[in-house]
Amino acid sequence: MQLDDLGNWRRTHKSNEIREELDGQEVILMGRVGDIRDLGGIKFLILHDISGSVQITATRKKTDPKILSKLDALTQESSVAIKGKVVRGKQAPRGVEVVPSEIRILNLASTPLPLDPSGKVKANLDTRLDARGLDLRRSEAIAIFKIRNQALQTIREYLISQEFIEVQTPKIVATATESGAALFPISYFEKEAFLSQSPQLYKEVLTGAFERVFEVGPIFRAEEHDTPRHLNEATSIDIEAAYMTADDVMKILEELVWRAFDSVKRNCAEELKVLNHHLETPKKPFPRITYDEALAKLSQEGVVLNWGDDLPTPAEKKLAEIVGGAFFIVDWPLTVKPFYTMPKGDKLSDAFDLMYGELELASGGSRIHSEEMLIKQMKEKGLNPENFESHLLNYRYGLPPHAGFGLGLDRLTMVLTGAENIREVVLFPRDRKRITP
Ligand code: ATP
Ligand code: MG
Repeated sequence: MQLDDLGNWRRTHKSNEIREELDGQEVILMGRVGDIRDLGGIKFLILHDISGSVQITATRKKTDPKILSKLDALTQESSVAIKGKVVRGKQAPRGVEVVPSEIRILNLASTPLPLDPSGKVKANLDTRLDARGLDLRRSEAIAIFKIRNQALQTIREYLISQEFIEVQTPKIVATATESGAALFPISYFEKEAFLSQSPQLYKEVLTGAFERVFEVGPIFRAEEHDTPRHLNEATSIDIEAAYMTADDVMKILEELVWRAFDSVKRNCAEELKVLNHHLETPKKPFPRITYDEALAKLSQEGVVLNWGDDLPTPAEKKLAEIVGGAFFIVDWPLTVKPFYTMPKGDKLSDAFDLMYGELELASGGSRIHSEEMLIKQMKEKGLNPENFESHLLNYRYGLPPHAGFGLGLDRLTMVLTGAENIREVVLFPRDRKRITP
């Protein structure tokens, strides 16, 4: 079949703009072919575009044979441009349909498709991810990424309004920032280098010049385990601010997360409906519990942990049952937090995690700004300060006190969309078994 060119045609309306008021008007629509139904004398085609869908209706008797043969040739998911007249019709979805006067077949999809993008026939996650370009056309997937976009834009706007500058730091690095174990080595000419686990060290240095910075970028973690909330490449929203403490940035984080919920609730009602997800905006201020209180609550429920341990997944689950919703865990033992974390007394750190239920959304805190203290903490964590010489230099030029956090955009999107697996909210997820597509 010969394909048609777009030529000088341009879309005059999106499908959701086709309303009864346009009755009798000529329009040009573009999109992909959904359901096709042939009732002998009459042919229905659902045209999908990013705004929604509209019905195209052609009766055999009244339609030009050239148009009919094109309609007959169309397969599901083909892309098409349709010129036609808007007609009010009681039977049509939304009470309106388009009767075609000319059709341009822009590209034909082959049959059978590896999955059904209408979502009527369910495919398993692996099949869907293998054909992710097609899978992303499902209305649920589109809804998820519209919500993700809405949340991110809201967060950006808020940070910019608070005088944060958006920055981009290197993703090829020479040393670990968190712990060496989760690093991906790469070959870098004659040397070994690594993919960056976090913009942590760079953003701290940048507070000396720009005071308040944020970055939305990839973090790479060689996570060993296959879990519904870890990927090997994730997107982190990182902020760092001079002359602030953990308490200050917790307020910023709380406001960010609250605004993300609020704006999704207000602007993405349709998408939430598609996902059948009821979103409850958490009340401010989010509750704060200390690590010690968390341990006490857990032990009352029979989950006994050693002081100084990180909270394992079953403990996080239990805590979510007890506290629930969005809450902070503060005053962590120094032992579980990274070397750059500001101590609070001998054993504690001025650091926090933001949880939503059992899911950790963010970690942050006040950071060390004295070189001497930083070197001491590095040694205590078994790190060799010599490997950090290029970073330590910055602490000799009066780096200001600063604080910040890293918020997982993928995890936040899970909460906003109700997705149970992080792979659903990432376009092309990378996990232990998957690096394609
Ligand atoms: P977890 O304990 O859940 O593995 P973490 O404490 O190792 O996370 P941080 O180093 O605190 O993670 O990173 C900050 C945030 O980045 C996390 O709170 C989370 O939202 C997100 N994040 C970290 N690692 C991953 C990952 N492998 N996949 C998805 N998101 C991640
Ligand atoms: Mg963390």
